Amino acid sequence: MGSCTTRPARSVLTVLRAELPRQALSPLDLMLTVSRLADQLREAAHVSQDRMPTATIASLPCLRVGQTSLPVAGYTFWDCHRQQWVVRLNVSESAEDRRFTLLHEFGHVVWHGYCQHFFPDLPRDQRISIAERAADVFASEALMPTDRVLACFHVGQTSPAIVAKHFGVSPIAALWRLEQIGLLPPSDPRLPIQPFVHPRPTPLLEEAA
Ligand SMILES: [Zn+2]
Repeated sequence: MGSCTTRPARSVLTVLRAELPRQALSPLDLMLTVSRLADQLREAAHVSQDRMPTATIASLPCLRVGQTSLPVAGYTFWDCHRQQWVVRLNVSESAEDRRFTLLHEFGHVVWHGYCQHFFPDLPRDQRISIAERAADVFASEALMPTDRVLACFHVGQTSPAIVAKHFGVSPIAALWRLEQIGLLPPSDPRLPIQPFVHPRPTPLLEEAA
């Protein structure tokens, strides 16, 4: 009788980090990369339903989720004692906004430490700005995959409010996604709706570095 050995399953975070490029990128390259990562997150975490359960991220062993009353949507730092990422979410925001922020913060965890390699020639404040936008794109596409949004749209679920309810996001996040996919015309450019997640105070960014 032969013996068989099984390799331990790679963690979701390990799977996603393995997909990160190791060379310098353009900002567009990064957006395409995070778009792929959003799909791979669903695959690696075995999410089959349209509405991603919050536990998909909150139950990952690499992080723990808590609350904050600071005037930010959320922030993340590394707990060196427990060897774990800590994500704090603003307790006063809606459940839908906190879901978005949780995915946004998890995006930061995935490519933590990589942005200086992706954009070695950019000043730090520009790298931070691109990373924030990338985290919004990651959250948006993980929570509202293009094929799932198109399927809803084609059965008549065309309003941001209905799409928002279906995917468990805020109406403004749904509106932005519908516009991004090209299913709705762009909003008035004088009313920018990004970024969704308020920039974090510099000390918190440094704490997370
Ligand atoms: Zn952020």
